[in-house]
Amino acid sequence: MGYQASENRYESMKYNRTGNSGLLLPAISLGLWHNFGGVDTYENGRAILRKAFDLGITHFDLANNYGPPPGSAEEMFGKMLQADFAPYRDEMVISTKAGYHMWPGPYGDWGSKKYLVSSLDQSLKRMGLDYVDVFYSHRPDPNTPLEETMAALDLVVRQGKALYVGVSNYSAEQTAAAVEILNRLGTPLLIHQPKYSLLERWVEDGLQDVLEQNGVGSIAFCPLAQGLLTSKYANGIPENSRAKKPSSFLSEAQVTQDVVNRVIKLNEIAANRGQSLAQMALAWVLRNGKVTSALIGASRVSQVEENVAALANLEFSNEELSSIDNILTD
Ligand code: NDP
Repeated sequence: MGYQASENRYESMKYNRTGNSGLLLPAISLGLWHNFGGVDTYENGRAILRKAFDLGITHFDLANNYGPPPGSAEEMFGKMLQADFAPYRDEMVISTKAGYHMWPGPYGDWGSKKYLVSSLDQSLKRMGLDYVDVFYSHRPDPNTPLEETMAALDLVVRQGKALYVGVSNYSAEQTAAAVEILNRLGTPLLIHQPKYSLLERWVEDGLQDVLEQNGVGSIAFCPLAQGLLTSKYANGIPENSRAKKPSSFLSEAQVTQDVVNRVIKLNEIAANRGQSLAQMALAWVLRNGKVTSALIGASRVSQVEENVAALANLEFSNEELSSIDNILTD
């Protein structure tokens, strides 16, 4: 059946300005790292995407290697774009990346201009797009001059294959250097994509200052720590969870008793706020305006609905914040 986007799709989502740029991003974005690969069910992914768009999620985050197998998430997304979203392309922000291993030989990994430019060409073909909105260097490359990686980002914008550029997993120092080079080239850095959640706070130690000082936006990946920051692991590891999946990046060993104990305490604070733990974890990432968007994943439609509803309460009292800090540092 043909898809008709909800007429109310812009009524409840919050849109934040990405650094000093002209681009607004939804406070919650959807990533296609899991659940959209060749091993996954097309109709489930399609339903998730439709629900996300109906709730005002306009930003979809991919990478060349998402799947499994690598490349299959972009292919599946391309099919869904064609089937459902062709009339809505100008209402969507689509991001992809290159930086991790993608094809054999010396030109399918890291940060050379050779790899980044050809990888983006492949991504565009898989998705059936003329351009992406944001193209990222997925990780810093210690063996390629930063000048070359940034020149590749500048080039794809000049070629019209990307509108904006980003970096991911760069340290504060590497980001400051990237900003300087990109400013010189005339293609300012739009956004940084770091891992950030209640359980992983390294960005607070320098990176957020660099981004703020330079008017660069920030999109937090794994804001739910791949599902650990929900109540799903409170009583063991459910069969249909990421930790049980064979090709997963979340192993059962990471669901430690220590994490579970903290999660149970965090859950109590969330309940007192009238939120689920997932909702509080997302609100917390967005709490002080330093993060433009929280980049979630979802394995089912109900998770998208629950997570977007986090926006109903983004305020934290000082007492709540210090209770949370105590639980995390205890
Ligand atoms: P999250 O931390 O949001 O984890 C998402 C997973 O948590 C879901 O797939 C689901 O797993 C579970 N979940 C989500 N919502 C709920 C809920 N309400 N209740 C219970 N469980 C829930 O993010 P991801 O780890 O998926 O990463 C998000 C995106 O970030 C990726 O898709 C990708 O775009 C980006 N990313 C970028 C990286 C980079 O290097 N730049 C690295 C990693 C991710 P399940 O139901 O299967 O247990």
